[in-house]
Formats: sequence, structure tokens, C-alpha cells
Amino acid sequence: MPERAVTSRDRRHSFGGVPGKQFVIVASVPEHRGLTRRAFIARAAALAVASQLPACARAQVKFDKYPFTLGVASGDPLPDGVVLWTRLAPDPLHGGGMSAAPVDVAWEVARDEAMKDVARSGVTTASPDLAHSVHVEVSGLEADRPYWYRFRAGDAESPTGRTHTSPPAGSPAQRIRFAFASCQNYTQGYYTAHANLAREDLDAVVFLGDYIYEGTPRGILVRDYAKSGWSFTLADYRDRYAQYKSDRDLQTAHAAFPWIMTWDDHEVENNYAGGIEKDDQHKAALLERAAAYQAYYEHQPLRGPRPQGPDLRLYRSISYGDLVTFFVLDTRQYRSPEVSLCREEEETPSGYCPASLDPKRTMLGAQQREWLLGELGGSRAQWNVVAQSVRFAQQDSNPDAARHTFDGVDNWMGYVADRQSIVDRLAKTKNPVVISGDSHVNFVYDLRRDFADPRSPVVGAELLGTSISSEGDASPASTQFDPSTKNPQLRFFDNHRGYVRCSIERSRLTADFRAVSTVRQPTASVSTIASFAIDDGRPGAHRI
Ligand code: FE
Ligand code: CA
Repeated sequence: MPERAVTSRDRRHSFGGVPGKQFVIVASVPEHRGLTRRAFIARAAALAVASQLPACARAQVKFDKYPFTLGVASGDPLPDGVVLWTRLAPDPLHGGGMSAAPVDVAWEVARDEAMKDVARSGVTTASPDLAHSVHVEVSGLEADRPYWYRFRAGDAESPTGRTHTSPPAGSPAQRIRFAFASCQNYTQGYYTAHANLAREDLDAVVFLGDYIYEGTPRGILVRDYAKSGWSFTLADYRDRYAQYKSDRDLQTAHAAFPWIMTWDDHEVENNYAGGIEKDDQHKAALLERAAAYQAYYEHQPLRGPRPQGPDLRLYRSISYGDLVTFFVLDTRQYRSPEVSLCREEEETPSGYCPASLDPKRTMLGAQQREWLLGELGGSRAQWNVVAQSVRFAQQDSNPDAARHTFDGVDNWMGYVADRQSIVDRLAKTKNPVVISGDSHVNFVYDLRRDFADPRSPVVGAELLGTSISSEGDASPASTQFDPSTKNPQLRFFDNHRGYVRCSIERSRLTADFRAVSTVRQPTASVSTIASFAIDDGRPGAHRI
């Protein structure tokens, strides 16, 4: 939806200097853990007094309850802008609590945390067909600098978020810091990883999927959903997103950095694949996918266009000067149906089920694959990061030393032809790195030109990050690195909860595997359990 951008001249006329209600702000801003409560209240009060957000054109909107219960977010940075997100939801866990009317939402972006030096502002509409969410695609900002932003609806004011634009296109940027994370099952753990991630010094967060879990609570539970059923309808998915987004640590992490996002299976359904067949059996699946995709869009800082039925184009690239380009993939929407596991005697001598080797099968779909191969082929970036959801490398699960079994039917081992086409392209790409999630453990792999031949050249590295909370705290026995003779490509294994913090400079990428002490308690410490480096021109990661 286009924004009515307000210039500074317009603002002199239209900005009323209406202060926000202090009690509202104090009650609702995610707590900054570095601040005492008293200091925090003082800062919130100062922010309220300093408020210059415009009184809305439809200022008659009155909220009985605070509407910004799901926080604020920003995403997909460009050199001159970001997308800003919020959703009005005074009753977040029960449909949102809004009437059917559209509501004007004012927004502003400032150069300072106190929101005094406003760079851009405007008014957008939160409409009921998108659950009163807003997506403001701000432009006209300066490259490579922090900005702060907030929203106003009626007499309510949102928390203030911080974001960061990317360096000028093609510029020789010297450094970018980001973290990547995935798999945040709400019932299986507190978001202590997000609380710690929010305190890092980062330009962006890359989230690789399983933002929600659509199903009923299972496994070791530390907290409950307000509604514990399966998500199937749009209303179900909206309430599930609201449940996740109600978490203060998640809100704090969103408010701290722009996020670059893709999804995995649980945003729709466990291990789903495509679902675009047109027979009766799949019509229900398509309806479910449409509901899930719409709810995903409604709750994330994504650029338009909004989803059309069961279709949402999510794959895209995001560059930081000529230092790094992120190729963000969608490994769910276009994939061929999952193969069923074959019996051992049906496996090919290579260890794969015959169906996994079928060259007609695709993980990405032809269009996305050609896009990726073309983009990688034309990239002038110093580092090329393929950001996607599921394990890319081959991993042998057969305990018998004389046999191989590659049975990961839900990851790239079920889609060998597509993977090989990408590996072949990575071999010709400058400093390629694949980042992944889904496995709920940390892995570092060498990516070889031919996985079957341990003497074939290493063409790149895969860094696979653990879960934020899914599967809960690790058992100590399962955190030991097993230097497997069967998987010489495996450089590291660890089973803590956390995220991966990366720094990219011209000559080196470093990755710190950050582990929280627990997800069974609401607060926890974080530490680096291992660091790896990838040096310019030398494919593969090594421990430092
Ligand atoms: Fe997961
Ligand atoms: Ca998954």
C-alpha cells in the first residue's frame, strides 16, 4: 500500500505534538535488561513528553486497551530504506480485538533514539483484511546508519524500535555483523536466546524458519499456549503468531535490528512440500497454505506484494555494498513431494534412495533455481551467503562402517539434483557460504564438489545453526563432538540452544556459536562455545 510521505514542510502543519499516555508506554515497551526499572520509566516518560507523532486523521479512534501488544519490527534493509511493521491487536490472543473498520496509523523515523530529529514520517492504513497490520516501505533514508522508529494510532503510541540501513549499492563496505537463528518453539523453551541476541552489536538478524510451530504442544513443556489446538484456519494462524509475538524477549530482538526472514515447514505444517497439486486431496492443503502464508505476511516485516492466495514470493537477495549478498531462499513452496524412506535393500550403492536421485525432483522449483544460479553467476560480492532453511550437506547416518545411508528426505539429501546444480555453481562463486537451520543442533560442514569423493575439492562451507528454543535444553551427553570417520566433511557438532553471531570483513568471515545456559528459566547467560573462520579465497571453515 503506498504511503503518504509527509515532508518536513507538511509536518509543520499537521503535527500536533500530542504526547503519548505515559502509563501505556511504561506498561508495554519490552524491558531493556540493561536498565533499572526506575531508569526505564524515566526514559519512557521522557520519550512520551518528546513525542511529535502526528494526531491521526481518524483521531476519533479510542482504544480501551493498548493496541501495540505485539511490538514493532523492521526488515529487508536497503541503502535508502527499510520496511517497518506493527499490528494493532488490543486483544492479541483472541482474534486481535479490533472492529472491522480500517484505522490510520502514523509512523515516523528519526536519526536519534529520543525521536527528536525526524527524517521521514507519514500515515498508513491498518486494514482488517490484513489483521490491522501495517507494512511501511520507507525510502529516502541515508545509507549505512541507525534509525529509530515508532507508530501512533488514536491516542496510543508504540514502543520505539531501532533499525539500520545497508551501505550504498556496490560500495566497498568494510564490515557487517549479523546473527542467524531459527526454530523457536514457544512451549519448549523461554526465549533467553533472543534476550541475549538483542544485546549483541549487529547490523541485522537473519531468521531461517520455524518462527511458529503450528501444532499442539509436545515434548518437554515450559509454558502453554492460550489456545493449544492445531492451526488450520487464518484465525488459528493469526492467534498462534500473536502468541509468539507476545513474548517480550522476541519483541526486544525485533525492536533492536532489522530482520531478514525466510520460512521453513512449521509456518504451515510439519514437513510439508509445495502442495500445489490440483486434485481434491490437495485443495484443503492449498487453503491451509493460503491462510498460513497470509498470517506470515501479516506478522513479519516483509516488503510487498502481499500473498495472493497460496502464493507468496519470498526468495530474494539483499546486499551490503559489494561486501556480501544474502541469497534468501524458499525451500518449501515449490518443492517436489517428499520421497518416502526406502528399505535398505532398495538403496542405491551410493547410499541414496533411488527417488532422491530423480533429476526431475526439485527443492527450489525451476524458476527459483534459475534465479539463484543466475544471481550467483553474476554476483560481484566479496562474500555470497545462501540463507535457507534446511541442511544442505550430505550426512551419512549408517552406523555400519561398510555402508552408507543418506536418508534425510526432508532436507537437501532428498533433492540431490537441485543440490548438485547449486554446488557446481558455488564452485565458481567467490567465497560462498550456506547458512541453515531446522536441525535444532549446530553443525559446520565442508561442502565438496562431489560429496561421494572425499578427495574432491572443498568449494564452500555450511554453517548450520541450532534452535532458539525447540527441543529444550540439551542433555550433556549429546553435546560432545564426534569426529566421525564416516563424515569427514563434518567439522563441528554441538547441541546447545542459541544462535550464530557472524562478522564479515573483506578478508575473513568469523562465526561464533553462541549458547544460552538454559531455556527452562526465563533468564539465562550466553557464551561462545566455538568460533570458526572462513578466509577469503580459501573455501571451508576452520576452528579458531
Ligand atoms: Fe524446527
Ligand atoms: Ca523445520
